[in-house]
Amino acid sequence: MEQGFTEWVVLEYCQIIRDIGKNNLILTSLPKGTTDQDIPQPLRDLGLVWTTKEVNDYVDVSRSKLCLLDPRAEIDLQTSDKESFDYFIFGGILGDHPPRDRTSELKKKLECDTRRLGNLQMTTDTAVRTTKMILEGTPFENIEFIDYPEIRFSKHEATEMPFRYVLDENKEPILPAGMLGLIKKDSEKTLDDFF
Ligand code: SAM
Repeated sequence: MEQGFTEWVVLEYCQIIRDIGKNNLILTSLPKGTTDQDIPQPLRDLGLVWTTKEVNDYVDVSRSKLCLLDPRAEIDLQTSDKESFDYFIFGGILGDHPPRDRTSELKKKLECDTRRLGNLQMTTDTAVRTTKMILEGTPFENIEFIDYPEIRFSKHEATEMPFRYVLDENKEPILPAGMLGLIKKDSEKTLDDFF
């Protein structure tokens, strides 16, 4: 994962824990010497499970089947993959635009099967949400997404998010709790830097 916990990453991981439950997320490969005190309080409060071990040391790879979610994989994730894999691995990598294919670094390390979630980059929490929906029986093509939504704060202020998001029942992109406020704060910072 990225060095350190940015505010953005903390909001995403908190949302993932709320979405799938603390016993279903393991944050691996934290820097050696990490202690509980280094884990941001909101994640500790939600019971984050973490380790400094690499995935293939943490998981018994001789007994478990791993699947790396990779935007460059050749096969799209199917509902039937629920039977084929025990662990799904996501890069704790912030999205960059255009994507720099940093997930491939994980692919080289892990040498496991890979699956794609369509051809556009998602935020990590969206990738986890989409994977859960597919494994629970909703095929990818039945999930409603929005690509590169514009987040508007006022008549004059808007930011385009260069990712694909799942839509909620009100046809709004699902963002982690608190993310709208953070995006607004960041956009104001950028404007302040400019003027
Ligand atoms: N910019 C990164 C790259 O170039 O690889 C992608 C970062 S993405 C924000 C974080 C993680 O979400 C990826 O490492 C991958 O595990 C998962 N992910 C995002 N979009 C995906 C897609 N379309 N298919 C499969 N996995 C995806």
